[in-house]
Amino acid sequence: MAAPTVGNRKRSNNCQAFSGEVKSFNLILYLCKDFLKSKPMRLLLISNSTNFGETYLAWACNQIEFFCLQNNLNPNSRIVFVPFAGVNIAGKAYPESYDAYEARVQKVFFEKFGFANFTSVHHYDDKVKAINEADCIVVGGGNTFHLVAEMHRYGLMDAIRDRALAGIPYIGWSAGSNVACPTLCTTNDMPIVQPASFKTLNLVPFQINPHYLDPHPEIDKMIKHGGETRQDRINEYLAVNQKMVVVGLREATSLWVNDNKMTLKGGKKMIVMQYGKEAVEIEPNTDVSFLLGNAQV
Ligand code: ASP
Repeated sequence: MAAPTVGNRKRSNNCQAFSGEVKSFNLILYLCKDFLKSKPMRLLLISNSTNFGETYLAWACNQIEFFCLQNNLNPNSRIVFVPFAGVNIAGKAYPESYDAYEARVQKVFFEKFGFANFTSVHHYDDKVKAINEADCIVVGGGNTFHLVAEMHRYGLMDAIRDRALAGIPYIGWSAGSNVACPTLCTTNDMPIVQPASFKTLNLVPFQINPHYLDPHPEIDKMIKHGGETRQDRINEYLAVNQKMVVVGLREATSLWVNDNKMTLKGGKKMIVMQYGKEAVEIEPNTDVSFLLGNAQV
């Protein structure tokens, strides 16, 4: 066989290089496909902003700071705040309350964590765009019905869900944790407005009851209170939603989701409730990833 000409050899080398490139491109595509499928979620779902007698977000600062560091946020990262649960903040009623709420949370995020690029989504005409450009989404507590109504009104339910599923860090407390669940149905709040739907972000497959409060029959007896306890109300939810799991997040606790792993943080146990089953108490720092699969307890 005739020796290949330089030109041919060159072409043949190019072909090899090209086929190598195709292979690595295919590999990248394959890895990306897997990456997209794996839902790289980063969620910090906090029970409450403020412990009794403490300053705003004081107890949660370490958790928020560590979560932000773990997710490579830096002082210039764009933090977009969702203030819509805050209808009555620092003496300001809705909608002025949003400015007051932004100022309150912005102060903590700047003074404690150094974030200089913190803005509330209520300032933007195109709120979906603001969410799409965020490096981290923060959803504050307050009235869950109002939060959900506004999120639906502005098309933020899909926008925030898509971003969280794409791995953008999400921090929520109280109402902000409620909305990470399939619905708002286990909030403690009054329905002060009517949202277009009770459906929420559905980032986790179970319901959270934030600020979970254990029954205190001795206090009820003392104050002669005959109304339902928190437990009674959750039992009502479970009676008509028998396949659902409700997680009672006691104050000063949080759930951390990192990819497919979820851990309970804080200094108190978490209670996991399901229809017709004994409630299960879970110790802090326990891996509770089984709840992400909506596994039966
Ligand atoms: N109102 C609570 C909050 O602080 C939410 C709740 O209790 O369901 O956001």
